Amino acid sequence: MTNVPELFGSMVFNDQKMKARLPHTTYKALKKTIQNGEPLDISVANAVANAMKDWAVEMGCTHYTHWFQPMTGVTAEKHDSFIAPDGDQVIMEFSGKELIKGEPDASSFPSGGIRATFEARGYTTWDPTSPAFIRDKTLYIPTAFCSYTGEVLDKKTPLLRSMERLSSVAVKVLHLLGKEDVTRVTTTVGPEQEYFLIDKKMYDQRPDLIFTGRTLFGAPAPKGQELEDHYFGSIKTRVAAFMNDLDEELWKLGVLAKTKHNEVAPSQHELAPIFSTSNIATDHNELTMEVMKKTAEKHGLVCLLHEKPFAGVNGSGKHNNWSIGTNTGENLLDPGRNPENNLQFQLFLAAVVKAVHEYQDLLRITVASAGNDHRLGANEAPPAIISMYLGDDLGALVEAIIEGKEYKSAGKSDMLTGVDVLPDFKKDTSDRNRTSPFAFTGNKFEFRALGSSLNIGCPNYMLNTMVAEELNEFYGELKDASDVDAAVKVLVKKVLTEHRNIIFNGDNYSAEWVDEAARRGLCNYRSLPEAMAHYVDRKNIDLFVKNGIVSEAEIRARYEIELEHYVKQLHIEALTMIDMAQRSIAPAVSSFVGKLTETALAKKSLSESISVYAETSLVEELSDGLEKFVKKTADLATAVEEAKKYNGDNLAQATYYREVVFAEMEKLRELGDAMERRTSAAYWPYPSYGEILFGV
Ligand code: ADP
Ligand code: MG
Repeated sequence: MTNVPELFGSMVFNDQKMKARLPHTTYKALKKTIQNGEPLDISVANAVANAMKDWAVEMGCTHYTHWFQPMTGVTAEKHDSFIAPDGDQVIMEFSGKELIKGEPDASSFPSGGIRATFEARGYTTWDPTSPAFIRDKTLYIPTAFCSYTGEVLDKKTPLLRSMERLSSVAVKVLHLLGKEDVTRVTTTVGPEQEYFLIDKKMYDQRPDLIFTGRTLFGAPAPKGQELEDHYFGSIKTRVAAFMNDLDEELWKLGVLAKTKHNEVAPSQHELAPIFSTSNIATDHNELTMEVMKKTAEKHGLVCLLHEKPFAGVNGSGKHNNWSIGTNTGENLLDPGRNPENNLQFQLFLAAVVKAVHEYQDLLRITVASAGNDHRLGANEAPPAIISMYLGDDLGALVEAIIEGKEYKSAGKSDMLTGVDVLPDFKKDTSDRNRTSPFAFTGNKFEFRALGSSLNIGCPNYMLNTMVAEELNEFYGELKDASDVDAAVKVLVKKVLTEHRNIIFNGDNYSAEWVDEAARRGLCNYRSLPEAMAHYVDRKNIDLFVKNGIVSEAEIRARYEIELEHYVKQLHIEALTMIDMAQRSIAPAVSSFVGKLTETALAKKSLSESISVYAETSLVEELSDGLEKFVKKTADLATAVEEAKKYNGDNLAQATYYREVVFAEMEKLRELGDAMERRTSAAYWPYPSYGEILFGV
């Protein structure tokens, strides 16, 4: 039996270890940096580095690495050993300077044209707010990453800046409201992670999964998710063994893995942690995804984090539960017992409503990816239209404020089970709305449009920044008021009235909503190129620059990087399809047709009266299908070739890939899948959906 409390955090240089291993003054100085964001002294860094190294060496480590999150979408690490020469021997050393600053060569990480290759230097800087940990006998130090000239080249720096910005603005507002004891405000996140788990033997036979993370061909299995028997279904032995192992690995790393269950699609599952600060939640989510993949390997499985690995069944997303709390322990999005009198709550709610309305395009942009394009608006995930769900109770409160009417909370009612042995309990005040992209869930908002592979740092720095912007504006309007309460009431009413159009409590999957949203003037960007074009709109650039999150050059760089990445992904998908079509599928179908023809001829030579109907009709159908398939493959190859004419214009090229290349891929897939249905399984070169999805 595992002793979980003992196991938890055993691989983390956490508070308890710092306290035990650092001189008291050093420990206190470090805590100040972590809790209050105060700058760190090099003498403190030296002491911390030494203590970290001693612990790591005791745990069997020989190396350390600065772990960072460049714009590639995956984490990066470069390992250095602790050795330092001492005469003809070596000793294990790690200085404060090495802890604080690393120098990976930056020229091979995406910079969106910001950095010329001759300016190859890049720096990583220790982030003391996220604890160091041990993996594979290496000490991992969470770091931020920038170029020699100081441009931010990662996902962590903007997140940390946005957290500080939101804190300083929210504290000012809270002081105005009389909460003078609040000195720091922190955003918190609990990301629910969906994933697929398939047999490694199946994976190894699918070049599409290996190169692109999703299947590019594949006829549906006779059974999909229509029986709804997988969601919350009992977990199979092999999957349960994986999940237990995963929990233990995550607990060792201090990740608060809490809930696990089967999801809607066959072979699909979910893991949810208990929330932590946005920064740690982001690092832990990156770690969770990596540990999922590694743990799967140990079990002969492969963990797929792509947003849409299989057509016809649900894809995977990530729900970003987000809230704001004070250092005095108050959740600023908790309505309390009497939300109608809770002006502080109303003000923060109004800030979120206004932020989501004014920057709905940014929220859409931040979840845009080639993979997520398959999900948003496909009736398995929220639509590409961003709106907010407040629920009956809060919805009624907002109505009452706007109309100037009295509001009475419904209060929690009793749920009577009607069976003596079943305990009765209090029901929530409102039901959930599973179709909303941005839903209020009691004391937090759940942003549901994220794709499963996304680094949650991006949506969170955008969310933090836009809310900081609104709060700062509120502060400006309230700071000179003689009667703050009265001024808050007027402001809240005005803001909710002006921004009520973003609130929608109905079915987000319905066709009527698309029309209604258009009438309300809400954006509906259906694909990444459509959405991304607005990244560099003046109002969005202003938002980031004004709040000191990233510079205009850095935003433009990020925009180019995203578009380039999208083009490359679709390009790889197209090439993989062509390769599969030409080298495996077409030859396989041709062989099968040859075999059928041989059989028909043999039958005929035996006796003219034997029926060859089955063979001839199949030969006709498949020959016809194969001709179309081969021609369509050539069309796709031509489309890919033509894309070169857009070299140098990332937006035009991304749009072309979406509108032309992707459309050709869809047509080719349809022809391929039709042939799969009619070709002998013994001849088809790839494992079927049935084998992959129901194999574990
Ligand atoms: P619900 O009942 O809304 O599903 P849960 O308690 O199951 O809420 O939480 C869902 C996710 O939201 C979990 O990851 C949880 O840790 C996270 N969560 C809960 N409270 C907060 C908060 N204040 N800030 C951020 N995330 C939170
Ligand atoms: Mg879920």
